[in-house]
Amino acid sequence: MLAILHPDTQLDSEEYRQTLHFLENLPGISVRVHEVQGAKQRLTEIYLLGDTKSLNQEDIMALPAVERVIRISDEYRILGRHRDDHRLSGFTYNDVTFDQDSLNVFAGLCAVDTPDHVEIMMQTLEAHGQLCTRMGAYKPRTNPYSFQGHGKGCLPWVFEKAGKHGIKVIAMEITHESHIEEIDTCLEKLGRPTGVMLQVGTRNTQNFELLKAIGRQSTYPVLLKRGFGITLDESLNAAEYLASEGNAKVVFCLRGMKTEAGNPHRNMVDFAHVPVVKRLTRMPVCIDPSHSVGSREHAPDGILDLMHVTAQGVIAGANMVLVDFHPMPEKALVDGPQALLLEELPAYLEDIQLCHETWKKRQVLHGKIQLNGLGG
Ligand code: PEP
Ligand code: MN
Repeated sequence: MLAILHPDTQLDSEEYRQTLHFLENLPGISVRVHEVQGAKQRLTEIYLLGDTKSLNQEDIMALPAVERVIRISDEYRILGRHRDDHRLSGFTYNDVTFDQDSLNVFAGLCAVDTPDHVEIMMQTLEAHGQLCTRMGAYKPRTNPYSFQGHGKGCLPWVFEKAGKHGIKVIAMEITHESHIEEIDTCLEKLGRPTGVMLQVGTRNTQNFELLKAIGRQSTYPVLLKRGFGITLDESLNAAEYLASEGNAKVVFCLRGMKTEAGNPHRNMVDFAHVPVVKRLTRMPVCIDPSHSVGSREHAPDGILDLMHVTAQGVIAGANMVLVDFHPMPEKALVDGPQALLLEELPAYLEDIQLCHETWKKRQVLHGKIQLNGLGG
């Protein structure tokens, strides 16, 4: 069960003290307090864990600091969407909003290689009004002899260039908890010219110790990739690990599933799950067409598969697109063959915008049909 307190309830107020005292003394129930900082107000949520079936909802509703009480299922307690649960989704980080209505594109390098390439990439993004990018510094590779990323050595110049070009958020995969500290120390030293969204790669979706470490900090939001060989439920539970440790600023990323059935794509594109994740949870949903498709093949209509699947995800309501671009893909150290070219960026962004607008119109269209169907 979840008790949501009146907005901006002070934790040193008498109402809060009385409420917490009552809840903490319920037999067989443990309480967990969760603070949610929204753009306009701070919300305190109190999770009641244990045998909550016997609890009387009215009694809890009557407590002085309580505004609402929701019965939640055991599934995805914090990030899930429960019955009668109208809590807001998403968060704002470094002035960029991530929720189930917004749309942000993170075009950039799969792996940081040279300062020149990073510079050209960021310049191009700035010229097209982009505030976000992807930049891999720590690369988990299948082959131990492959390039593993420049690691913390490249952080100072990547962050400086981002700041110079007005980039607000960089999606950056980390593979070990020590990388959080490396990123934080570097950003702090530079005066925080940009922000970072910590990315958990598909190979680490169930690295529970890494998830817990990332969840214990709330400075940086998290982009969690769906595990490529596990069920959706298992991946959503992985996201809940982050929230259960205190960090609910999580974006969930679909990136294709590993199966021969996906051939000739690198992975089986799973963007049909965009609306499913939005129904089951309150997380914004990201799609990664690059790691799903894995090539620059195009259809007879002249449109790259990468662009077709992006359109499919966005028209279904995706809130974020994580995509590989490179100024010179033939020189890229990782995933060059699937990178989009800088000259393809304007049309790509326009296509995404078209699909996002169409998604909004589709909501109106189907909302109307539903109302008519109900005789409204
Ligand atoms: C990536 O985005 O660079 C990446 C390695 O993705 P994934 O973890 O989905 O394979
Ligand atoms: Mn890659």
